[in-house]
Amino acid sequence: MASVLPSLVLALGFVVAGCVSLTPQQQDRVAEVQRFADATTTAYDLPRIRLTIEPATNLGIGARYRQGNFYVNVRMLGSPHLIALVAHELAHYVLGHDAVITLVSQAEWQRAQEQRELDANAKSVEILMRARGMGQQEAVQAVIEKLRAVQRAVDRGGPITPGHRTPAEEIADLVARFPDSR
Ligand SMILES: [Zn+2]
Repeated sequence: MASVLPSLVLALGFVVAGCVSLTPQQQDRVAEVQRFADATTTAYDLPRIRLTIEPATNLGIGARYRQGNFYVNVRMLGSPHLIALVAHELAHYVLGHDAVITLVSQAEWQRAQEQRELDANAKSVEILMRARGMGQQEAVQAVIEKLRAVQRAVDRGGPITPGHRTPAEEIADLVARFPDSR
Protein backbone atom coordinates (compact mmCIF):
# COMPACT_ATOMS: atom_id res chain seq x y z
CA MET A 1 0.00 0.00 0.00
CA ALA A 2 1.36 3.44 -0.91
CA SER A 3 2.66 5.48 1.98
CA VAL A 4 0.38 8.42 1.16
CA LEU A 5 -2.70 6.30 1.91
CA PRO A 6 -2.88 6.63 5.70
CA SER A 7 -2.91 10.44 5.59
CA LEU A 8 -5.46 10.41 2.78
CA VAL A 9 -7.63 8.10 4.83
CA LEU A 10 -7.45 10.45 7.81
CA ALA A 11 -8.32 13.45 5.65
CA LEU A 12 -11.30 11.78 4.00
CA GLY A 13 -12.38 9.76 7.02
CA PHE A 14 -13.39 6.82 4.90
CA VAL A 15 -12.07 4.61 2.11
CA VAL A 16 -13.78 3.36 -1.00
CA ALA A 17 -12.55 -0.13 -1.84
CA GLY A 18 -11.98 -1.42 -5.34
CA CYS A 19 -13.78 0.33 -8.17
CA VAL A 20 -16.84 1.57 -6.29
CA SER A 21 -17.91 5.05 -7.35
CA LEU A 22 -20.51 6.87 -5.30
CA THR A 23 -23.38 9.10 -6.32
CA PRO A 24 -23.81 12.40 -4.44
CA GLN A 25 -26.69 10.81 -2.46
CA GLN A 26 -24.48 7.87 -1.50
CA GLN A 27 -21.72 10.27 -0.46
CA ASP A 28 -24.22 12.01 1.82
CA ARG A 29 -25.10 8.69 3.45
CA VAL A 30 -21.40 7.88 3.89
CA ALA A 31 -20.89 11.23 5.61
CA GLU A 32 -23.88 10.51 7.86
CA VAL A 33 -22.48 7.08 8.74
CA GLN A 34 -19.09 8.57 9.55
CA ARG A 35 -20.71 11.24 11.76
CA PHE A 36 -22.62 8.50 13.59
CA ALA A 37 -19.44 6.48 14.03
CA ASP A 38 -17.58 9.53 15.32
CA ALA A 39 -20.40 10.39 17.74
CA THR A 40 -20.25 6.80 19.00
CA THR A 41 -16.49 6.67 19.52
CA THR A 42 -16.69 10.07 21.26
CA ALA A 43 -19.50 8.86 23.53
CA TYR A 44 -17.56 5.71 24.49
CA ASP A 45 -14.17 7.43 24.57
CA LEU A 46 -12.67 5.09 21.97
CA PRO A 47 -10.27 5.67 19.08
CA ARG A 48 -11.93 6.70 15.82
CA ILE A 49 -13.11 3.81 13.66
CA ARG A 50 -12.34 3.69 9.97
CA LEU A 51 -15.14 3.17 7.45
CA THR A 52 -14.65 1.38 4.13
CA ILE A 53 -17.32 1.18 1.43
CA GLU A 54 -17.14 -2.17 -0.35
CA PRO A 55 -18.40 -3.30 -3.75
CA ALA A 56 -21.71 -5.16 -3.92
CA THR A 57 -21.57 -8.91 -3.30
CA ASN A 58 -24.14 -11.68 -3.08
CA LEU A 59 -22.91 -13.04 0.22
CA GLY A 60 -25.72 -11.61 2.31
CA ILE A 61 -23.32 -9.44 4.30
CA GLY A 62 -24.44 -5.82 4.44
CA ALA A 63 -21.71 -4.73 6.78
CA ARG A 64 -18.97 -6.25 8.88
CA TYR A 65 -16.55 -5.27 11.59
CA ARG A 66 -12.95 -6.36 11.88
CA GLN A 67 -10.23 -5.03 14.15
CA GLY A 68 -10.91 -1.31 14.29
CA ASN A 69 -12.34 -1.12 10.78
CA PHE A 70 -15.85 -1.45 9.58
CA TYR A 71 -16.99 -2.21 6.09
CA VAL A 72 -20.32 -1.30 4.56
CA ASN A 73 -21.57 -2.78 1.31
CA VAL A 74 -22.30 -0.02 -1.21
CA ARG A 75 -25.80 -1.45 -1.69
CA MET A 76 -26.65 -0.75 1.94
CA LEU A 77 -26.21 3.01 1.42
CA GLY A 78 -29.73 3.05 -0.05
CA SER A 79 -31.24 0.95 2.74
CA PRO A 80 -33.76 2.39 5.21
CA HIS A 81 -32.00 0.19 7.80
CA LEU A 82 -28.54 1.64 7.23
CA ILE A 83 -28.26 3.34 10.62
CA ALA A 84 -29.43 0.24 12.54
CA LEU A 85 -26.99 -1.86 10.54
CA VAL A 86 -24.12 0.50 11.32
CA ALA A 87 -25.12 0.60 15.01
CA HIS A 88 -24.72 -3.20 15.11
CA GLU A 89 -21.21 -3.05 13.65
CA LEU A 90 -20.26 -0.23 16.01
CA ALA A 91 -21.55 -2.38 18.88
CA HIS A 92 -19.01 -5.08 17.99
CA TYR A 93 -16.33 -2.41 18.26
CA VAL A 94 -17.62 -0.96 21.55
CA LEU A 95 -17.89 -4.48 23.01
CA GLY A 96 -14.32 -5.29 21.99
CA HIS A 97 -15.25 -8.24 19.79
CA ASP A 98 -11.76 -8.35 18.32
CA ALA A 99 -10.41 -11.43 20.01
CA VAL A 100 -10.60 -14.47 17.76
CA ILE A 101 -12.75 -17.18 19.32
CA THR A 102 -10.46 -20.17 19.71
CA LEU A 103 -12.39 -22.98 21.28
CA VAL A 104 -12.14 -26.69 20.70
CA SER A 105 -15.18 -27.46 18.61
CA GLN A 106 -17.10 -25.88 15.75
CA ALA A 107 -20.27 -26.05 17.85
CA GLU A 108 -18.63 -24.03 20.62
CA TRP A 109 -17.40 -21.46 18.11
CA GLN A 110 -20.91 -21.16 16.71
CA ARG A 111 -22.44 -20.68 20.17
CA ALA A 112 -19.87 -18.05 21.18
CA GLN A 113 -20.30 -16.16 17.91
CA GLU A 114 -24.09 -16.27 18.16
CA GLN A 115 -23.84 -14.84 21.67
CA ARG A 116 -21.68 -11.98 20.36
CA GLU A 117 -24.30 -11.20 17.73
CA LEU A 118 -27.09 -11.13 20.32
CA ASP A 119 -24.98 -8.91 22.58
CA ALA A 120 -24.20 -6.60 19.64
CA ASN A 121 -27.92 -6.25 18.85
CA ALA A 122 -28.62 -5.21 22.45
CA LYS A 123 -25.64 -2.86 22.57
CA SER A 124 -26.72 -1.25 19.29
CA VAL A 125 -29.88 -0.07 21.07
CA GLU A 126 -27.74 1.75 23.63
CA ILE A 127 -25.56 3.21 20.86
CA LEU A 128 -28.61 4.50 18.96
CA MET A 129 -29.73 6.19 22.18
CA ARG A 130 -26.37 7.67 23.14
CA ALA A 131 -25.00 8.66 19.72
CA ARG A 132 -28.22 9.31 17.74
CA GLY A 133 -30.42 10.62 20.54
CA MET A 134 -33.15 8.02 20.02
CA GLY A 135 -35.52 7.00 22.77
CA GLN A 136 -35.27 3.37 23.90
CA GLN A 137 -38.48 2.27 22.22
CA GLU A 138 -37.52 3.94 18.94
CA ALA A 139 -34.07 2.34 19.06
CA VAL A 140 -35.40 -1.16 19.80
CA GLN A 141 -37.92 -0.72 16.98
CA ALA A 142 -35.19 0.33 14.53
CA VAL A 143 -33.17 -2.80 15.33
CA ILE A 144 -36.23 -5.05 15.09
CA GLU A 145 -37.22 -3.57 11.73
CA LYS A 146 -33.73 -4.20 10.39
CA LEU A 147 -33.87 -7.82 11.61
CA ARG A 148 -37.33 -8.27 10.08
CA ALA A 149 -35.95 -7.13 6.73
CA VAL A 150 -33.16 -9.70 7.06
CA GLN A 151 -35.74 -12.37 7.98
CA ARG A 152 -37.73 -11.54 4.83
CA ALA A 153 -34.57 -12.00 2.76
CA VAL A 154 -33.93 -15.36 4.49
CA ASP A 155 -37.56 -16.36 3.83
CA ARG A 156 -36.94 -15.67 0.13
CA GLY A 157 -34.02 -18.10 0.22
CA GLY A 158 -31.20 -15.76 1.18
CA PRO A 159 -28.35 -17.00 3.38
CA ILE A 160 -28.20 -16.60 7.15
CA THR A 161 -25.10 -14.54 7.88
CA PRO A 162 -22.37 -16.81 9.30
CA GLY A 163 -22.29 -16.82 13.10
CA HIS A 164 -25.88 -15.62 13.44
CA ARG A 165 -29.05 -17.33 14.61
CA THR A 166 -32.09 -16.71 12.45
CA PRO A 167 -33.21 -13.06 12.52
CA ALA A 168 -36.49 -14.19 14.14
CA GLU A 169 -34.52 -15.76 17.01
CA GLU A 170 -32.41 -12.62 17.34
CA ILE A 171 -35.60 -10.52 17.56
CA ALA A 172 -36.91 -12.81 20.33
CA ASP A 173 -33.68 -12.35 22.30
CA LEU A 174 -33.79 -8.56 21.90
CA VAL A 175 -37.43 -8.30 22.96
CA ALA A 176 -36.66 -10.44 26.02
CA ARG A 177 -33.95 -7.92 27.00
CA PHE A 178 -36.21 -4.91 26.48
CA PRO A 179 -39.63 -6.12 27.66
CA ASP A 180 -40.86 -2.51 28.00
CA SER A 181 -40.45 -1.98 24.26
CA ARG A 182 -42.95 -4.58 23.11
ZN1 LIG B 1 -22.62 -8.81 13.94
